[in-house]
Amino acid sequence: MEVKRKVKLKEPYDKILRAIGITLGVLFILLFVYFYNIHQLENLGYSKRASQNILFKLKKNYVLQIGENETLNAAFESRDYDEDNLDSYAKIKYQKQKNLIKNINALIKKKYSNSNISMILAHGSDQDVTAFAKRDKIRYLEEFYSIDYAKLKNYDRYVAYSDETGEDEETVVLCVNLDMDKENYQDPIVINKYSEDVLVNKHRQLSRSYEPKDLVKIDKKYATDNKQKASRIAVNAFIKMYEDAEKEGYGLVINSSYRSYLDQEEICDEYANLYGDSYVENYVAKPGFSEHQTGLAFDIGSTNSNVFASSKEYAWVQDNAYKYGFIQRFPKGYETITGFRAEPWHYRYVGRKTAKYIYENKITYEEYYAMFLDT
Ligand code: ZN
Repeated sequence: MEVKRKVKLKEPYDKILRAIGITLGVLFILLFVYFYNIHQLENLGYSKRASQNILFKLKKNYVLQIGENETLNAAFESRDYDEDNLDSYAKIKYQKQKNLIKNINALIKKKYSNSNISMILAHGSDQDVTAFAKRDKIRYLEEFYSIDYAKLKNYDRYVAYSDETGEDEETVVLCVNLDMDKENYQDPIVINKYSEDVLVNKHRQLSRSYEPKDLVKIDKKYATDNKQKASRIAVNAFIKMYEDAEKEGYGLVINSSYRSYLDQEEICDEYANLYGDSYVENYVAKPGFSEHQTGLAFDIGSTNSNVFASSKEYAWVQDNAYKYGFIQRFPKGYETITGFRAEPWHYRYVGRKTAKYIYENKITYEEYYAMFLDT
């Protein structure tokens, strides 16, 4: 009797233990499956947060089918995730933008195609895209945005400039990006930060305090007087060019080099007194608008002739300057782009790679800047 009772007492206790055991086992298996899945998604390139949301929203199989996809990752990380747009997320090219998913949703709502949305995202900042998503749908996006360097924020100006000039799309994008749809000297971009790539023209002004950090004196051997200064990198390049020219029997000389903002101010006043304001307006760069303030520009002369443009030195420099990193900055026939009449004597140091490209493609620094440097 006593033994039987003991067995009876043990039974419920066993059941509880078994139940707990099974529960723990199931929990363990579920946890194992969960972490296995997370691991699998993370291995595919999804973040922990995205992976968790993928599992939670039961989209694991969908995601596995797609594979690694940055936009999809961003969508599953985002609070703006919208299941209806899942296929679009998978097809739209990713851009690192804070409101990426929110903007994609807005653009889908405007009935833009996935490829159009990729195009829109690629041509502007997060802020630009947000603004663009608010405007009415544009039907022929490709017109301007098949051009790499077209900017989303300039769309209205492209349309206006195109209507006004009838130029082809590429020219329109280039000119507007260079602010050529604005009047000369009218609300220019003011540049404070020193850069060797700096573009200076009638729409881009150097500030009063803009000064090259590596100004050096130019040895009198290379210049018309001993007061000339310029950026070390440009001076060294010029000396190399000078020496090679000399070996071939050509005599080069620097007539003018670095000029500060104040120097340019004095020049303008002087010319205005001599020839009047309209002369200055047409032929002299206003303070801050002269490339000489960069320390990278030289007015080059010939030691054999007073007229550089008709000297044998000019012909030699035209063919060879690019090898030393110099470009003729205001060539003939490009006045509408550069904003300056042709100046055969004015050369700018831009580095050898850039100079070679500009020389070989017969373009101006404006065009090079718009295509490669203006991001
Ligand atoms: Zn000059």
